[in-house]
Amino acid sequence: ETKTLKADKTVRTTCTYCGVGCQLDVSVINGEIKGIQAPETAEVNEGHTCLKGRFAFQFYNHPDRLKEPMIKKNGKFEVVTWDEAYDFIAKKLKEIKNNYGADAIGGFSSSRATNEENYLMQKMIRVAIGTNNIDGCARVCHAPTAFGMQQSFGTGAATNSIEDLKQTDAIFLFGANPVKGHPVTGAKIKQAFMKGVTSIVVDPIKTSLAELADYHLQIRPGTNVAILNMLAYFIIKEDLVNHHFINSYTEKYEEFKEHVDNLDINELEKLTGVSKELAQKAAIAYAKAERAMEFHGLGVTEHFQGSKTVMLLSNLAMMTGNIGRKGVGLNPLRGQNNVQGAADMGVQPHQGAGYLDINDPKIQQYYAEKYGVDKMPEHEGLKIPQMLNAAINGKLKALYIMGEDTIMTDPNTNHSIKAFENLELIVVQELFMTATSEMADVVLPASSYFEKNGTFTNGERRIQRVNKVIEPIGNTKPDGQIIIDLMSRLGYQQPTGLTYDAKDVIKEIADVIPFMKGLTWERLGENGLQWPILEDGTDTPMLHINGNFKKGIGTFHSFDFEESPEIVSHGKKYPFILTTGRELEHYNSGTMTRRTDNQTILSEDVLEVHPKDAISKGINDNETVRVISDRGSVVIPIKYSKNVKRGVLRTTFHQPEVFINIITGSVGDKETLTPEYKVVAVDFERL
Ligand code: SF4
Repeated sequence: ETKTLKADKTVRTTCTYCGVGCQLDVSVINGEIKGIQAPETAEVNEGHTCLKGRFAFQFYNHPDRLKEPMIKKNGKFEVVTWDEAYDFIAKKLKEIKNNYGADAIGGFSSSRATNEENYLMQKMIRVAIGTNNIDGCARVCHAPTAFGMQQSFGTGAATNSIEDLKQTDAIFLFGANPVKGHPVTGAKIKQAFMKGVTSIVVDPIKTSLAELADYHLQIRPGTNVAILNMLAYFIIKEDLVNHHFINSYTEKYEEFKEHVDNLDINELEKLTGVSKELAQKAAIAYAKAERAMEFHGLGVTEHFQGSKTVMLLSNLAMMTGNIGRKGVGLNPLRGQNNVQGAADMGVQPHQGAGYLDINDPKIQQYYAEKYGVDKMPEHEGLKIPQMLNAAINGKLKALYIMGEDTIMTDPNTNHSIKAFENLELIVVQELFMTATSEMADVVLPASSYFEKNGTFTNGERRIQRVNKVIEPIGNTKPDGQIIIDLMSRLGYQQPTGLTYDAKDVIKEIADVIPFMKGLTWERLGENGLQWPILEDGTDTPMLHINGNFKKGIGTFHSFDFEESPEIVSHGKKYPFILTTGRELEHYNSGTMTRRTDNQTILSEDVLEVHPKDAISKGINDNETVRVISDRGSVVIPIKYSKNVKRGVLRTTFHQPEVFINIITGSVGDKETLTPEYKVVAVDFERL
């Protein structure tokens, strides 16, 4: 017999997991969350969610939740009051600032926190501490997207909306498996493939979408620039370029064309492992489509040539006129729920809130006036990898971390541990004990997204409300409240009397960020607004109509393929290429999803190996192996898989039992330092 329970209340909010930004109706009975439904009226998800958003919510009241502030004394955490914790942190930060200067302190913000919290976090580091050493987890995922698209178009964000999938004729999916990483958008892409739109997938892995696609270009990992040059070569050779678009709205096409004309196509074929014939067919199919949408993911950004790849993807869209119309554009599949928003709010060491250049004295003056201070820090801050190096070199003394498990998620774990061990102060705001919070001096218990108000910005620039469903658990506080409290302990008084209230913080954000002038809590309504938001509240589902690029004109860039230093330095000794990714059931380091029933469905990381590679080493299916790189080794069960080509291995990093980042390396994208998780030189052996 089934019994229908009536909810005491149902609250609409935004999913905390991925950048799709699904709207969820959360039902509460007797003060406990009992179910999640997907509202059909939600523009983003139209009645759908995935396994994570809908079912993986039990983490919020898991017994492991941190509920009290703690300070480490003699190597052991002791519960303290909030006042004791705040006083301790403020005193230590002031001491470090006095002894070594403000640049000896750094902050890692979180793309899992709300816009308001990210805005406050960067403000605390810049204004209350006095340094631009503020960075966030975009550094380990989509920083190259923001940088690359800014170079090409002037704006580092998706040009179109997911809704445009209904109107496109072709989908070009590069380095992404949205069926696992962005499931609701992945399902829409799959439906479009099945309905017969032209479909091209570039991926070293034979994903389910690759299998379904008209063209799967299964490249050798790390050869993204080479394959994009190949595609451009054939588009130009077949004269399928949009001359009107190029002549009217872009610059430097002639240099690009000359560069492409001189490419050795046979060499590119050899490098990528993709035949000229297949590349030619895919190029023609993309360029001939009336409207073609590009989507890309971390398979583009987490590479030595990540930013360059983004610029070449922009070239592809511009040279075929696939910009500024419905059903076209460059659409990065932003990983985390609020990775777009965190960057918008100024969580980066070179740009403040609204992407204004903090090196420019006029901009420094602008922020100083808005924040009610005499002056702002004058030079660019350090990126996360630079902060870790600075800690090892003794220049960085304190790290303030809001909701990041750096030790688990950043590459070359032993390097991160060494950096952390060198610090005088580590403060971590978290939901649970993690590998990172274990190393902290102070751990502050944060409230989950069910327990606070605010906004998240999804991958299509849509700012949506996060509504409080239940009161904060135990003695936890929302991250933003903690930051506001600490700012006043550090001696900074908000000039406008700002409190931690979403409406209040949004008012200040709208005042500071030029392209959010018309943003208010009320105007967000149930379906949010896509920035830029004009003063009258009009939002912008599509960018660059009629070549209206923020930088005035779209710019072509030309690049040659360069082999990753990881392969150059270690490829001989470690002849296999390991590439890492994600599974549907888990979210990144699994801090939340491992504490839900999803862990029962998928409880281990496995290594996908081509059967012939395993057999050549005498290793059976499901056996456990040791995977070795220049940084160390890990132990992991293998699974025979023909989804990887010979010489390529694939795994995930959801489970701490394997701790795959022990073997990933320190090579990063040249421009943004985003780590190259997708190309790791390894070997493997029977245990
Ligand atoms: Fe949440 Fe993404 Fe799943 Fe939607 S697709 S429910 S946003 S994890």
